[in-house]
Amino acid sequence: MRIHWTPSLFTYIFFLLLSSATIAQVNQTSLTEYPLGCVAPSSQTAGLDFTADDSYLRFVEPSNDAYLAIDGNRMKQLVVDQAEIAHRYRNAGNQFWGRIIGTESDHDTALWMMEQLNQTGVENIREDSIVLPPQWIPDRWIISATKGQELVELTSAWPAYGSPGTGPEGLQLELVDVGLGLVTDFFGRDVAGKAVVVHSIPTSGTIINSAARSGAIRRADELGAAAILVVLELPGNLQTAFYDVGTNVPTLSIGSADGAALQKLLTDSPDNNSVKIDVQLEVTMVEGLTTSSVRGEVPASSADAERIVIVAHRDAYFEGASDNASGVATALELMRYFAQVPKSQRIRTIEIIGTPGHHNLARTGHNWLFENRESILDQTVLLINAEHSAHALIDRWGNELCSTNSIGPFSWTINGSEKLTATTLEAFDDFGIPRWTETGGPAGEIRTISTLVPSVVIMHAGVLLHTNIETAEAIPAVSLAATTRAFAKIIDQANGMSLEDLSR
Ligand SMILES: [Zn+2]
Repeated sequence: MRIHWTPSLFTYIFFLLLSSATIAQVNQTSLTEYPLGCVAPSSQTAGLDFTADDSYLRFVEPSNDAYLAIDGNRMKQLVVDQAEIAHRYRNAGNQFWGRIIGTESDHDTALWMMEQLNQTGVENIREDSIVLPPQWIPDRWIISATKGQELVELTSAWPAYGSPGTGPEGLQLELVDVGLGLVTDFFGRDVAGKAVVVHSIPTSGTIINSAARSGAIRRADELGAAAILVVLELPGNLQTAFYDVGTNVPTLSIGSADGAALQKLLTDSPDNNSVKIDVQLEVTMVEGLTTSSVRGEVPASSADAERIVIVAHRDAYFEGASDNASGVATALELMRYFAQVPKSQRIRTIEIIGTPGHHNLARTGHNWLFENRESILDQTVLLINAEHSAHALIDRWGNELCSTNSIGPFSWTINGSEKLTATTLEAFDDFGIPRWTETGGPAGEIRTISTLVPSVVIMHAGVLLHTNIETAEAIPAVSLAATTRAFAKIIDQANGMSLEDLSR
């Protein structure tokens, strides 16, 4: 763009500078100190600061008072409990931590879930055991870059799920940065045998991002990279957990600050070849592990009644407070709520299934649901997926993420009649749940069975998903209450509809 310097432009710029100087002076004396809602989260800043639970915006609709017994604060504690299970596993020395399928953290979550069901009068509580194929577990990793005496350890490095390891001796590689990794970014670049850095634009995060969409990761792999580092360009230095990316070489995500540190080493160096990177990633395929689905029901008054099934997957990376501690909390609270209804008034049996989840190569939860679809969906008139059912809206501002006092938006999919759709959307709106105006987004854990019966999915896959700062603090009690109350209302209204009404 060319700028033509005219006298009036000079005058304009002069006054602009003068006025901004005045504003700057005024601000120096009048700024009030507030807690930092906006930060670049890193190991130094920890995570984001969130507003207190009672200061989130809330939606007051008198006709919803019937659902006040569904308690956001109680559910928040359930989220905290699950986060603690993940931390216990981490503190036991597991670098790859969370509620990881097949591990002690998975079994602890199942036991905890059954205890919760026991306390709420749910019946027929049981565990369906599932034998797992060998599970990918990274035992240890460390990534560092050196130039001469200078050493930078990439503390945000996190292996993409299923990535090949390096063996204990690691790989010492030359480093090459290919920007966004578009086809043209590779023109004239020799990446063979090198550690390739690809920058990825989050849209909105680990689930959907530019490096996956544009094929940059696959391209680096096909062109012979010896290791791939994906910089997910979210503010700060977050640890982010990708699902399997299908590469043949060690592949890890790193945070923006670590990506910038590598850029600095490369650009400060007159000779790129002098920057070396040491990649150590030890992976074991662990055999003989098991997992389970946790089940329980609130039986209807009649033994041959139809059923409503609520699914919540139990597994998570990191604290996984939204994904999926929130969904598990929602499912448990719904069971508590419906267990209070006198048995003589229960029209349909409500079943909860705490599935193992899908954050592994075998996608155990998807497959288990599909393989057992006939028994699970027998007599089922409505299937609800309680997944990522609460989150706070996070805004982005330059190099920072900003927490807000608002519930974040959700995507939604409904399989069923216009009447079911209208009932569901009205309930979401009545409880003040922000949502996409059009249907879309993932169906999550129930994807393999969601079209076999009438089903409702509301979820989000936002900025913090699969990051180490999706912590319990990021989950507003108000959001848990809103979604769970809406589901309760949908179930109540669905109980007044036949399978035919719900289907078409
Ligand atoms: Zn999930």
